[in-house]
Amino acid sequence: MDFDTLCIHGSKEKYDTTGAVSVPIFQSATFAHPGVGESTGFDYSRQQNPTREHLEKTIAKLEGGLDAIAFSTGMAAIGTVMELFRPGDHFIASDDLYGGSYRLFHEISMKNGLTFDFVNTSDLSLIESCIQPNTKAVFIETPTNPMMQVTDIEAVARLTKKNNLVLIVDNTFLTPYFQQPIKLGADIVIHSGTKYLGGHNDTLAGFAVVNDQETSDRLRFIYKTTGACLSPFDSWLLIRGIKTLAIRMDKQQENAEKIANWMNTQKKIKAVHYVGLSSHPDYAISKRQGSGFGAMISFEVDSEKTAKEILERVTLIQYAESLGGVETLITYPMLQTHGDIPKEDLDAKGINECLLRLSVGIESAQDLINELSRVLEGE
Ligand code: PLP
Repeated sequence: MDFDTLCIHGSKEKYDTTGAVSVPIFQSATFAHPGVGESTGFDYSRQQNPTREHLEKTIAKLEGGLDAIAFSTGMAAIGTVMELFRPGDHFIASDDLYGGSYRLFHEISMKNGLTFDFVNTSDLSLIESCIQPNTKAVFIETPTNPMMQVTDIEAVARLTKKNNLVLIVDNTFLTPYFQQPIKLGADIVIHSGTKYLGGHNDTLAGFAVVNDQETSDRLRFIYKTTGACLSPFDSWLLIRGIKTLAIRMDKQQENAEKIANWMNTQKKIKAVHYVGLSSHPDYAISKRQGSGFGAMISFEVDSEKTAKEILERVTLIQYAESLGGVETLITYPMLQTHGDIPKEDLDAKGINECLLRLSVGIESAQDLINELSRVLEGE
């Protein structure tokens, strides 16, 4: 079945007999047992719920994984995956990560006894040089948030397999529509479902997709024990959002390409980081390992004053944290998504007062360009 069809008919499971075309919202905390020691397959919604199960089966199919687990947020998914590891385990992670992942690793995982090396994972030799006897996993985002660095997933997967490490890939920016890390050798795929999968800036969600029974069983045990599950209604919103994933991603990417090319002609814009530009240093890898480039652009303007003027003058584009929805959002990473990262780490990555991040939506590209042009010209 093609991807577009899977988005709509991913899970064939029917949980009721009415013929409802839209999956029902099973808004029930608990399920009655037919007899002592018997179960309908559903006992208590922290553990499983039919609406959520439909969503999970769909995501597993889209990512080409064995199992997908739906969490209340992307951070809940990452936090739960970290529970697979023990004090003393060592991680190698991207040095350019969503600020919340950076905070989790530094403030929670380290307190729990895990140790980390943060490196530019675009450089395979840097990953290799950090491997220690107690290294257990490599955690990457590709492209990274917000600098759009790309990691060659297949090359890293060869290295992790050789060294018996778990490869975890945060696939939030591209979604399985454009990039399928499990097919490239990843072991665990993470999503903030809040972004493109949900797609409408109206709900939070997260996913962990795994491809082996043992990890699935261990993760489901932690999941039912710690309880960061997605509610039936939010599961339904995700099911609905995913139906239009393919057409949204196509339109968002088309818009992003037009905007990135236009930005490249603007005097006040000094650099444009978009993986779909042939001038991007990782363009060739992006082209090889995915079927598209997504719709996230970060760009550097000539001064802090210009950055602030853009943020304060946009009206159609909204100055708000988050990404991936149908509405175009602009973010100031230094103060928002990456606000908790020490300044020297931000400076080292070029996340400064001149850097803005644009999540391109599905409005008319010309309207978005007109608005950016108006604010850049000080109108
Ligand atoms: N991963 C990436 C790449 C993100 O951008 C985000 C949030 O912005 C997250 C994970 C966390 O997701 P959530 O906000 O749903 O907890």
